[in-house]
Amino acid sequence: MDLTQLKTKQLYINGEWRDSKGGSLHPVINPATEEPLCDVIQGTLDDVDDAVAAAKAAFKQWRHSRAAKRQALMHAIADGMEARKQDLIDAVSAALGCPPHITEWLHVDGPIYAMRYYADRAAVMEQTEQAGHSVVLKEPVGVCGFITPWNYPLHQFVGKVAPALAAGCTMIQKPSEITPLQDYVMAEIIDAAGLPAGVFNLVPGAGPIVGAALSSHVDIDMVSFTGSTRAGIEVAKCAAPTVKRVTQELGGKSPLIITPDADLETAVRWGCEDVFINSGQTCTALTRMLVPAERYEEAVEIARKVAEEVAIGTGADDFMGPLSSARQRDIVRGCIDKGIAEGARLVTGGSDTPEGFAQGFYVKPTVFADVTNDMAIAREEIFGPVTCMIPYKDMDEAIAIANDTEYGLSSGVWAKDAEAAMPVVRRIEAGLCFVNGGEFNYDAPFGGMKRSGNGREFGAAGLDEFIELKSVQLPA
Ligand code: NAD
Repeated sequence: MDLTQLKTKQLYINGEWRDSKGGSLHPVINPATEEPLCDVIQGTLDDVDDAVAAAKAAFKQWRHSRAAKRQALMHAIADGMEARKQDLIDAVSAALGCPPHITEWLHVDGPIYAMRYYADRAAVMEQTEQAGHSVVLKEPVGVCGFITPWNYPLHQFVGKVAPALAAGCTMIQKPSEITPLQDYVMAEIIDAAGLPAGVFNLVPGAGPIVGAALSSHVDIDMVSFTGSTRAGIEVAKCAAPTVKRVTQELGGKSPLIITPDADLETAVRWGCEDVFINSGQTCTALTRMLVPAERYEEAVEIARKVAEEVAIGTGADDFMGPLSSARQRDIVRGCIDKGIAEGARLVTGGSDTPEGFAQGFYVKPTVFADVTNDMAIAREEIFGPVTCMIPYKDMDEAIAIANDTEYGLSSGVWAKDAEAAMPVVRRIEAGLCFVNGGEFNYDAPFGGMKRSGNGREFGAAGLDEFIELKSVQLPA
């Protein structure tokens, strides 16, 4: 679509498009061409106050709406997402840089599914539980503030907005400054679906301004944040004085343990592609590949081949686009240089520009070998197409290395089969584990342990985050 047709110079508040009270415009850049796509308004504190007031007023009725009504409205939103699927693909792909054919299945199909999944779970809100002489009711938590990052922007939007709608919450959504465009398509879809005014509000803007205001606002009952651990901590600090509920989906530095009896070629190929997809900007990316020492050099050669085969660009046959911004490209290049300086072996890739890509924020698919787990490249989230290969002697050592991280978002095990993988899976400290290439599942909870966050998105647990329980103590 022509993205300049989106109403990006306005905010969506109380069911209408409005001008900002004093906000300035911020350009969204196409990372493949470095050309501006359009200008997006950056909301102000007054805009946040207006949106929160609208959400607070709408909550009075929406909280008591019948589940069947919310279910029907959410299916109408999902219908709108299907009808405007190409617009959603265009909006995500243009600002993020992910090739459109990959954007369709990686960024758009899942969120449409998840919208319908939560539509059909709205009925859960009307189920009560008997606990002795009490009955336990479910109520929506209230007005919610949502802060999302740029790397899976539609996925994160739906992971918050859909369960909140199902529960009967109202909300203010703040997308990333880098990829806000799909949120504008979604606001149009939501508007057309006929959601009551004030239930959903869109206020883009700077993290330290709009994000901080949502986190600290006295009339917001819950803030759900996805992004870096650094900003997640700021959000929790801002939220503390108002005792609001806080959920955090943060960073990761996830291990993939390949066991000695695994099909090495398949496992290493899958592990590398898992890191390179979305240009390495995936919070669950399995960026520490743990390989049995006796098969290490063989694995390194497979990884080199896979990395060198990656088709770079945003065309129909390409696998990996640019990084999302010049800043992100520079951070990733800096990490690669740090890895070399630390003494890791650069197998392929590197921090120089890929040949033929003078324009665009491209980084070469990069493989490091001889990485030790104390190196910065093994400890810090790089958020780029860089994989670190670490040898291990036995399974105890593999588990120790896998768990020696402050993060605990994701992990992977590749073994002879799923049954053989399970004893290893049970020893890993992470909220997710991908076994033998298992796929992401929107019906299952997603979230991290340790400093990767608090709370879960998706699945039944994703709805629980938006529920308050009320125990009604009846006369015994
Ligand atoms: P970021 O933390 O810089 O920004 C995320 C969002 O927070 C943006 O909307 C930003 O405007 C806002 N923000 C920034 N500072 C803020 C502040 N002080 N107060 C309130 N809001 C603030 O992260 P990013 O660079 O956009 O995203 C990359 C990070 O997100 C990575 O660390 C990645 O691992 C993480 N991530 C985690 C998950 C998950 O589900 N666990 C998913 C995607 C991304």
